[in-house]
Amino acid sequence: MMIQDSYGRKIEYLRLSVTDLCNYRCIYCMPEEGVCKKAHSDILSIEEMTEIVRAAHALGIKKIRLTGGEPLVRRGIITLCENIKAIDPEIELGITTNGSLLAPMAKDLKAAGVDRLNISLDSLDPETFRTITRGGDLQDVLNGIRAAQAAGFDNIKINAVLLKGINEKDILDLIRLTKDETIHVRFIELMPLGVAKHWNSDRFISTEAIEKHMINADLIKIDGVARVYRLPGHKGTVGLICPMSNSFCPTCNKIRVTADGKLKPCLHSDQEIDLRGLHGEALTQAIRDGITQKPESHHFGAADAATERFMNEIGG
Ligand code: SAM
Ligand code: SF4
Repeated sequence: MMIQDSYGRKIEYLRLSVTDLCNYRCIYCMPEEGVCKKAHSDILSIEEMTEIVRAAHALGIKKIRLTGGEPLVRRGIITLCENIKAIDPEIELGITTNGSLLAPMAKDLKAAGVDRLNISLDSLDPETFRTITRGGDLQDVLNGIRAAQAAGFDNIKINAVLLKGINEKDILDLIRLTKDETIHVRFIELMPLGVAKHWNSDRFISTEAIEKHMINADLIKIDGVARVYRLPGHKGTVGLICPMSNSFCPTCNKIRVTADGKLKPCLHSDQEIDLRGLHGEALTQAIRDGITQKPESHHFGAADAATERFMNEIGG
């Protein structure tokens, strides 16, 4: 089975937000006071999430990424991973995490069938890290990365959001992580979403700021939304993701489902399709409708077009 949207894009990838709660409060993602905890009954249960994944898979979705909020604070996350792999062991299952709770969970995640880990890490300086995450301890994340490697996760991706005047000085340190290990660092442009929607552009840095460090690097591939380079002699790679300076919409193959069960055809749009309470053919049809309604491109340029949801609700 294969499903295309109205613009001929093959849709194969579902990002599922398993909670909107998080143990961090990153300055560009969440308000300082956090978010109102949704009623337990408003959030999809593990069984409902499994059902959505099953229906999406039947339509041709091959790749699932669990995100949040922080997916590792979600009770039942290991069971959800096992359920997804039980639908089809060939599903590529990834998790995007802040890494802070990974150390004690890495082995169980591996055993549950998780194939890939993306760890968000914007700075290797403990103070800058604490400032960005509003109180996070860098060492927890570094321990999480080591534990994940020991559990057998190869090719870990580190995602770093670029923030002018805050973590520019950390760019070289982050690039250096790719030297001796097969770690893949991806620099991501700040998007005007959630908290950052109301920031002016002073904090924005284009990925062009990284390109000057890539002069001797080989452009090895275009991987979905990322341009991927390898520096001479480095084992890992450096990827640049530039939704702002270079639209990735023509190659977008994703749909998203929020923790309260809304299918979002586009990250940036307010359009949502409620999947809660749907089963069987009705659920399949709603997912099909969402795919058909994917817009051709996002409208980051238009001030009134962005979604009002915070990124911890959408999942990045
Ligand atoms: N808590 C997990 C984590 O931090 O990896 C998963 C959820 S988080 C919302 C997913 C990704 O979205 C993170 O890599 C985060 O840096 C990114 N993100 C959040 N707000 C963003 C923004 N305004 N622009 C670009 N990336 C953003
Ligand atoms: Fe939490 Fe991830 Fe948002 Fe940071 S980026 S506040 S870790 S959900």
